[in-house]
Order: sequence, then C-alpha cells, then structure tokens
Amino acid sequence: MFCPKCRREEMKPETHKNTEIDRCPVCKGMFFEKGELERMIITNASADTFAFSAMSDAMDEVTAHCTRCDVPMKAHTGLADLRVDMCDTCGGIFLDQGELATLQLHDS
Ligand SMILES: [Zn+2]
Ligand SMILES: [Zn+2]
Repeated sequence: MFCPKCRREEMKPETHKNTEIDRCPVCKGMFFEKGELERMIITNASADTFAFSAMSDAMDEVTAHCTRCDVPMKAHTGLADLRVDMCDTCGGIFLDQGELATLQLHDS
C-alpha cells in the first residue's frame, strides 16, 4: 500500500521486536493495523522510530488517506495529547515519525 500521509512511496514492512509494521521510507510515518499499536507500545520500538524530524512536523498538518481502503482517515485526539490519524473502515492508525515516543511516555 502507498503511504497514507505523503503518498509518495510504498510502505515497507519493518519488524520491531516481533511486531511487523508498515513504514514509509519518505516521511518515516508508520501504519498500524488494528491491535498492532497496542502491541508496539508494550514491546518497545527501536530508537529510530522515536525521532521527530522536519518532515514529521510538516506531515502533522497533512490529513492522511487510508490507501488500503481508499477513504480519508479521521483525526483522533484520544491518545495522549496526540492528533493521530485513524481509519474508521479498517481500524488502522497512522503515526507520524516521533509520535510513538509521545504515546509510550504517556503510557508508562
Ligand atoms: Zn510517507
Ligand atoms: Zn483503512
């Protein structure tokens, strides 16, 4: 599937502590299928997924579009103080690079 955020590149599977997630090579955002995000927070991700960048700041303003279901994703503010993009159809969640760290800090 193409990146729901920047839509410039195909998402690439990456394995973090036994959880496979789709990650965009361009904006470094991550797409989690339903249930995957919870597992990711519990198992801890690699340091690279934590870093904010100029790209991730810019992407925060962009509305994501679920490329799997071809529907716009909706902004949710329920998780920590983050505005994350969720797909109502497949339950997928898109996190910009760095947002995972905020979630984990909030969780622990
Ligand atoms: Zn992207
Ligand atoms: Zn979807």
